Amino acid sequence: MTATHSSRMLILGSGPAGLTAAIYAARAGMAPIVVQGIQPGGQLTITTDVENYPGFADVIQGPWLMEQMQKQAEHVGARMEWDHISEVDLSQRPFRMKGDSGALYLGDTLVVATGAQARWLNLPSEEHLKGRGVSACATCDGFFYRGRKVIVIGGGNTAVEEALYMTNHSHDVTLIHRRDSLRAEKILQERLFAHPNIRVMWNREVAQFVGGGEPEGLVAVDLRDTTTGAIERFDTEGAFVAIGHSPATELFRGHLDLDGDGYIKVEQGTTRTSVPGVFACGDVMDKIYRQAVTAAGTGCMAALDAEKFLAEADFEATPQPALQHA
Ligand SMILES: Cc1cc2nc3c(=O)[nH]c(=O)nc-3n(C[C@H](O)[C@H](O)[C@H](O)COP(=O)(O)OP(=O)(O)OC[C@H]3O[C@@H](n4cnc5c(N)ncnc54)[C@H](O)[C@@H]3O)c2cc1C
Repeated sequence: MTATHSSRMLILGSGPAGLTAAIYAARAGMAPIVVQGIQPGGQLTITTDVENYPGFADVIQGPWLMEQMQKQAEHVGARMEWDHISEVDLSQRPFRMKGDSGALYLGDTLVVATGAQARWLNLPSEEHLKGRGVSACATCDGFFYRGRKVIVIGGGNTAVEEALYMTNHSHDVTLIHRRDSLRAEKILQERLFAHPNIRVMWNREVAQFVGGGEPEGLVAVDLRDTTTGAIERFDTEGAFVAIGHSPATELFRGHLDLDGDGYIKVEQGTTRTSVPGVFACGDVMDKIYRQAVTAAGTGCMAALDAEKFLAEADFEATPQPALQHA
């Protein structure tokens, strides 16, 4: 028999955004259900050291932080379902969703916290050295490369911003781009070219990341000249792949308004989407900050926005006593 799960607030995603929304909703007595997706805990479960999440003087581990967030959400009354939503119907309330397990989920409100995934080059050596010199987030990991020679790969705004950001930590930053011009905004390009500690290597792509040392870490990259095909080795201790992110919003195409890059559009200063009663938080609606703490912050906002929406909907649905006239 197909299981049906109903809740005042259904939350899709169990990263920092979804779990923070769950903590706030549970403490407001809404008994939220969190559908965890195929990556319970979200992106932080694939990293190691986290040094910028407030509240911890020591370096903590990403998977441990997410375990704590899940425990906290469960402790205050949120329920976790290990399922992945593959169909949505947002045309009427309660919103209806179907999971890969066959279960049906009904929510008076819906909080979408399905996150985003960094795009990678998809080289076997990249997978092997992720977290050991190869990263997709300079803001997150740049600090670990203080005083080291690093490269940033890409040619858009993200790559240029990451290269500029890395000059806070390194005096030797090289931007690697496979074409002979950048896509980034002009103003960013001007700042990049004017920076004395950044150089650009044009027409180059990474053929392979090279590991070495004990414990093993990145020591070099093999760069292919995209015009001649020639390969040269380039020494570096840190590589930041900055070729963009893909928000997990395919499911919502045609149901919610998305921007040109596929991120869910929200009303400025809120988490309200184009469908009343549906709220979005975390990386799925934020292509600028993309941090655990900002995801948690918008998760809190989504729960509060949903709670307010329900209170107003309940008030409208309740017959009000006639006003007494003197
Ligand atoms: C390697 C790495 C290191 C990082 N290091 C740091 C750091 O040090 N500090 C920092 O602040 N940030 C760091 N970040 C960024 C941080 O992880 C993200 O900003 C944050 O996780 C975003 O949280 P989120 O809840 O929006 O989404 P995510 O963490 O992406 O979680 C998305 C969730 O949605 C679920 N989901 C997706 N689709 C569905 C579906 N159809 N049905 C149900 N569930 C679904 C997934 O299973 C997952 O649980 C790092 C990111 C990476 C990749």
